[in-house]
Amino acid sequence: MNPITEEMQQIASELLTAQEVKCVLGWEKGTLWYQSAPAFIFSPDEASRLVWDEFCLPNLSSYLLDDRYSQDRVAIFVKGCDSRGIVRLLSDQQLSRQRVYLIGVPCPGMKDPAAALGQKPGDTSDLPVASKCRHCTHRNPVLYDRLLGQPVPEVEPSGERFAHVDEIEKMGIEDRYAFWEKQFARCIRCFACRNVCPACNCTYCCFDLDEPRWLDKEVAPSQNAFYALTRAFHVAGRCVECGECERVCPMGIPIMALNRKIIKDINELFGDYEAGLETSEQPPLGRYNPDDPDNFA
Ligand code: SF4
Ligand code: SF4
Ligand code: SF4
Repeated sequence: MNPITEEMQQIASELLTAQEVKCVLGWEKGTLWYQSAPAFIFSPDEASRLVWDEFCLPNLSSYLLDDRYSQDRVAIFVKGCDSRGIVRLLSDQQLSRQRVYLIGVPCPGMKDPAAALGQKPGDTSDLPVASKCRHCTHRNPVLYDRLLGQPVPEVEPSGERFAHVDEIEKMGIEDRYAFWEKQFARCIRCFACRNVCPACNCTYCCFDLDEPRWLDKEVAPSQNAFYALTRAFHVAGRCVECGECERVCPMGIPIMALNRKIIKDINELFGDYEAGLETSEQPPLGRYNPDDPDNFA
């Protein structure tokens, strides 16, 4: 057993035995050796289910929304991306800081489970880095109460972060339209991208409303496009770039290209900005300045 897994199990057991928390959120092995799923640990004898390995991809932060009005204290293991999700929830006042005990885990970057498909369990060093981790700028947790292990070196952002956006921007308008039309036509409107997202934290989502009904029940390309674009604008300036929406999409739709297009535009218009780093943050699109030189009308 690796030392971080051991420490995780011990901390969870201690916190639950002392009744300091009602539940500990971490990761556990499921049916497949190359997947580590979210784990909800409620008693000390369940703590041995917890694991830390190269497949702990899921961002756990959005699970806190399921119980957002509870007063029960919860402990949660956070990588860089999970901690930025927590900052998102705190900034959006969806979570009180006293309710969560954050155990930071520096993350070396996760492996791509799809590349392990069909392989026998064993050496994973040859597996490629997971897509969501390729352009990660904060592998170390940005907020925690306690840190496990040693911080890992951060990777400097490279131009590649926006490479796909640049590629799409270079297309002519008609080709660009055709590209996205083809992508949205494949969407099955499962809402997994919304449900996994810490920035999609409205109590009532506009897409669930019957009155008024913003989105037809019919899964048609135009409605899918409306859904995808509306969601992208709802998280504009607030997206913490955890890549979870794209990771869970069963149809492989390049959702991060949309998110990063907006991030790129915000950087160009308002200066470099990364969401989910400070709990007191005011995203560029959430600020108002009466001295704004542009005409408001
Ligand atoms: S996005 Fe960053 S913090 Fe999250 S799993 Fe990937 S490398 Fe780790
Ligand atoms: S839009 Fe996607 S990348 Fe951004 S915070 Fe939500 S799940 Fe993460
Ligand atoms: S996860 Fe993919 S298929 Fe499901 S609603 Fe989102 S874009 Fe559509």
